[in-house]
Amino acid sequence: MRDPTAFLGQEYADLVTNATDWKLRVLRGASTPWCEIDGKKVLMFCSNNYLGLSNHPKLKEAAIEAVRTHGVGSGSVRPIAGNMDLHVELERRLARFKRADASLVYQSGFATNAGLIPQLVGEGDLVISDELNHGSIIDGVRLSRADRAVYKHADPSDLERVLGTAEEHSPTYRRILIVTDGVFSMDGDIAPLDRIAALGARHGAMVYVDDAHGEGVLGEGGRGIVSHFGLSRSEVHVEMGTFSKAFGVVGGHISGTKELVDFAYNKSRTWLLSGSHPPPVAAACLAAIDVLESEGEHVRRLWELTRRFKKAMQSAGFDIGQSATPITPIIVGDTHRAKALSERLFELGVFALPIVYPMVAKDRARLRTIMNAALTDDDLAFAIRAFETAGRELQVV
Ligand code: PMP
Repeated sequence: MRDPTAFLGQEYADLVTNATDWKLRVLRGASTPWCEIDGKKVLMFCSNNYLGLSNHPKLKEAAIEAVRTHGVGSGSVRPIAGNMDLHVELERRLARFKRADASLVYQSGFATNAGLIPQLVGEGDLVISDELNHGSIIDGVRLSRADRAVYKHADPSDLERVLGTAEEHSPTYRRILIVTDGVFSMDGDIAPLDRIAALGARHGAMVYVDDAHGEGVLGEGGRGIVSHFGLSRSEVHVEMGTFSKAFGVVGGHISGTKELVDFAYNKSRTWLLSGSHPPPVAAACLAAIDVLESEGEHVRRLWELTRRFKKAMQSAGFDIGQSATPITPIIVGDTHRAKALSERLFELGVFALPIVYPMVAKDRARLRTIMNAALTDDDLAFAIRAFETAGRELQVV
């Protein structure tokens, strides 16, 4: 009889043959600038822990204390019996931080996009997405029954063209949603959200920004892209983010009007049907907001290191693309070369993962580096030397 699972092994073998399988490395201990990966002490250069908060003493203490007072699990989904005071307080504090009327915390950023986007638009609606948006947005769009359109990456004039075409559609669309990453995770460039919001306003469309990589990085005190552009809640209707990056913990969230939050938690299936965060997670996220509000030095340090690193990479002759944020791609082009560069750097003591097709175009393979505010000046100098050496050896520069 035919083995109904035969495709598992075959498809995995294809991935290995094409070198597109994931070889998982093991991080032993905390995600700190110097850490142990696969038994080797290396400088972490590709985590999303921008501000080093995942190992900040205040977050760790808050998590430990929450385990003492609240236990390790919430016991339920939030709409039934798992809505703890910590979750409610976290949303109150997040809304205050974001200067929004209300916020809502989801289990993850992925669950936010996959749960909310298909509720905002459905049959008879249109969703318009930047061509380089994150996979969780793409899946959220796929789950909706709305018509879909894609505009050229970070290109407001192409968005305007799509909006113009949408207006000629018959019957007229009930709702239009424009959705974009705030900071693009593979290139580190910033979406022109001011111009996107202006187009949204002109065409009566909702605007949704995924600020996963802008929070803790852009705007006043790391408040994110909406603050960066000084936009209002009537211009950007959904500000989405995650606690899994600069905040150093885990969990997705949205901020906006109270109507948005009331709608979102009553409708998002990922929110309604999945267990709520364990108390230490909520407490650590709360402490992360405290740290951002009271210790401005982390965001300032992140930018100082970022500027120095970019300058050094450019003068060494690396192609660092169009990044305007602490995500600095080191664009190599060829997949094998990108992998070889990453391996050589690892030998030299720097961990920077290669990002290759299908995550980026075939000829745009790169190392994606992400700066971390917890690096010392010596750490940065060490990393720069390693990049220069590996780059020269592999003739990337
Ligand atoms: N959006 C973007 C732009 C992201 O980079 C990520 C994380 N890779 C997510 C959403 C998902 O966030 P989370 O890790 O909280 O699921």
